Amino acid sequence: MLTGRPATTGPVPQRRPDVAVVGGGPIGWAVAWRCAVRGLRVVVHDPAPGSGASHVAAGMLAPVAEAYFGERELTGLLTESAGRWPGFAAELTEATGTDIGYRTEGTLMVGLTADDLAEARRLWAYQQGLGLPVTPLRPSQLREREPALAPRVRGGALAATDHQVDPRRLVPALRLAAERAGAVLVAEPVRRLSDVTAGVTVVAAGCGVAALTGLPVRPVKGQVLRLRAPDGGPPGFRHVIRGYADGEHVYLVPRDSGEVVVGATVEERSDLDVCAGAVLRLLRAAVDLLPEIAEYDLVETLAGLRPGTPDNAPILGPLPGHPDVLVAAGHHRHGIVLTPVTADLITELITGDGSPHTLLAPFRPDRFADASGVVGAASTFSHPTEDDSWN
Ligand SMILES: Cc1cc2nc3c(=O)[nH]c(=O)nc-3n(C[C@H](O)[C@H](O)[C@H](O)COP(=O)(O)OP(=O)(O)OC[C@H]3O[C@@H](n4cnc5c(N)ncnc54)[C@H](O)[C@@H]3O)c2cc1C
Repeated sequence: MLTGRPATTGPVPQRRPDVAVVGGGPIGWAVAWRCAVRGLRVVVHDPAPGSGASHVAAGMLAPVAEAYFGERELTGLLTESAGRWPGFAAELTEATGTDIGYRTEGTLMVGLTADDLAEARRLWAYQQGLGLPVTPLRPSQLREREPALAPRVRGGALAATDHQVDPRRLVPALRLAAERAGAVLVAEPVRRLSDVTAGVTVVAAGCGVAALTGLPVRPVKGQVLRLRAPDGGPPGFRHVIRGYADGEHVYLVPRDSGEVVVGATVEERSDLDVCAGAVLRLLRAAVDLLPEIAEYDLVETLAGLRPGTPDNAPILGPLPGHPDVLVAAGHHRHGIVLTPVTADLITELITGDGSPHTLLAPFRPDRFADASGVVGAASTFSHPTEDDSWN
């Protein structure tokens, strides 16, 4: 569609940009980076880059542990993107010299009680049925891998290919890489897409996408905690731990810095309040699985809004009726793991011959269009105001 110029760095371009990205989260900056490296003139519009869901996210790259019943196509995309992560992380580190906290110890999925284990095993059987690498472990094998696990834990499984990255390092690194390749930030919100002047507009505004496009992207609240291991040391465990504990689902993500992210609630709400009950439930489940957590400092409690969609899958491709507007949104619980594949596919749409990659087919925005091809009218959730509506 578009061809590039040699990449440069410099002030805000006076000429019309080739690509305007609305939203400076992981998705927006990754698209901006990929396009700028191809020599396109790129601007990114965002009043507060990196302040969306990514600021709260745990950063699990978990196509296996997050392969749920009825989401085969999404699982395929998650697996594809996770496979691109090692190269993506290396390229980003090379471009910026930044440690983005990419770690490959794998994920232990555990069940505390017999009932928890029964629930977990049902899902593991489904995941194995898809050919995903899930290795069941007896309690003694679990504790060989992670001695800090509670003796009560009844059993578990290893998802060796489910890795992690630190989103609070990732997004600044993506921004740095994009800016080094010539992308320019315009630190203002976009109120209407028609205000944006560019060859192609990429809408990557997280939960802001509904108001801009009418697409059914809704906020799904998640509360998380950040703990810190005592004495400035690393946490006493290395794997990401995802567990069922007396019916509660909880994950613990250890970072080299000593931080442990504990999450997360899943709530159909759009406020950012943190409530005592949620903190209590998360901490109780976490301590039940890893008792030493009780001695860690509780350093942060916060909530974020996942950009959810009716089918839990992202929305990728041209906005119906507007071929020069590409949507890269609705990544819900998976925006960090899906960053590489989203950036590659959207950049390919912009720079290629216009024919979309087959991977995009299940995720096109027009799956939410009504019979007349209009997006928004038939949405289960859309709230364009008079001011924000397309014109
Ligand atoms: C509790 C929690 C845990 C999570 N854990 C994980 C995980 O472990 N692994 C994983 O893969 N994903 C996880 N996620 C999901 C992940 O954070 C999101 O899917 C991802 O951040 C989406 O990226 P994004 O760039 O589309 O949106 P965001 O990160 O929300 O960024 C959107 C950006 O758009 C900007 N913006 C909004 N409206 C406008 C506008 N009108 N004009 C200009 N700019 C605008 C915002 O300021 C923001 O900077 C988690 C999310 C939450 C809340």
